[in-house]
Amino acid sequence: MSDKATDLFASPCCKAKLTRQETRLECVACGHPYAVEDGLFKFTTGTSSHGEFSSEEMAELLKLAKTDGWKSALERYIRPRRPRAVQLLTDPRRYNSIEPLKAVKNGRVLDFGCGLGGVSLALATAFEEVVALDGSEDRVSLLNVIRREENLDNIVPVCHIDPANLPFPDSHFDAVLLIGVLEYLPQSLPDDTVEAAHEKCLKEFHRILRPGGSLLIHTKNRFGWQYWLGERDHSGLRFAPILPVSLTDLIARTVKGRPYRIINYSGGGYRKLMRKAGFDSVALGWPVPGYQTPDYLLSLEGRMLGELRKIAPDYHSIGKRLALHALGLTGLLRYVVPHYSVMATKRR
Ligand SMILES: [Zn+2]
Repeated sequence: MSDKATDLFASPCCKAKLTRQETRLECVACGHPYAVEDGLFKFTTGTSSHGEFSSEEMAELLKLAKTDGWKSALERYIRPRRPRAVQLLTDPRRYNSIEPLKAVKNGRVLDFGCGLGGVSLALATAFEEVVALDGSEDRVSLLNVIRREENLDNIVPVCHIDPANLPFPDSHFDAVLLIGVLEYLPQSLPDDTVEAAHEKCLKEFHRILRPGGSLLIHTKNRFGWQYWLGERDHSGLRFAPILPVSLTDLIARTVKGRPYRIINYSGGGYRKLMRKAGFDSVALGWPVPGYQTPDYLLSLEGRMLGELRKIAPDYHSIGKRLALHALGLTGLLRYVVPHYSVMATKRR
């Protein structure tokens, strides 16, 4: 029996084709089964610790969404506890973060590490097919409830944890999107160094993209001005990202008792990483004020002053505007913006 699902996936175990059985997919090469439940494809099951809610909270939230509808759960459960999560799910500015993909819209896109699914919901209005993948089963389950209620049949929810072995055939997607996800990938590959883990994962994204397809990453800049001003990074340390990684690792092991593995790169570092993974052209941008709900997405590839004019005059105080223009004029701005969008293309 062949259907849409068997064309959509390849087994993560041997990259062989899958056949559809009643409530599961099966690898034709080794017979490994993968569950399908209410339209949710489960290549792995379980929860991951990242995210807005604890696993207990997610279970409560999911139950409420299933019984009373997701909008009721949004108002009664999410809004009083995590107003920011309401924004991540419903803010129309989430659409701005996918603007660079407009050229390839109407195609098939993978939202890797989709979390609660705010970006997948935005993508569903522009793309023919949106594969929304996350390592946390309860989060994709919530998106599955939303998708059903909103009749968004073009969203395919997938639970899968291993970023270096994806359940998709070669040259499958027109675009792959990672928003605030890249830095966490090495945590799924504890035996590799951070750079080796990133390279492995990026090569895997390269494999599943069609020639000419785009990888769009939104992430932090390790030399972003927030860190020079003392903002704590993922590990809870101040000034850690701007120090040499080996030194930060030593500090993290001493102070926090664990290695330093959630790391970001400089703009040049991202370019190098993409090229090593086989990508062709790389273009950097700056989501303003940040990648989660950007008002603007400015290009960092040309003259910055022209780009800064796109920001509404009342957007920043006069002091901040002067500082921005000074950084733009000296050419420093592209090195110290807090967040980057990294758009890489697979050679045709
Ligand atoms: Zn197999």
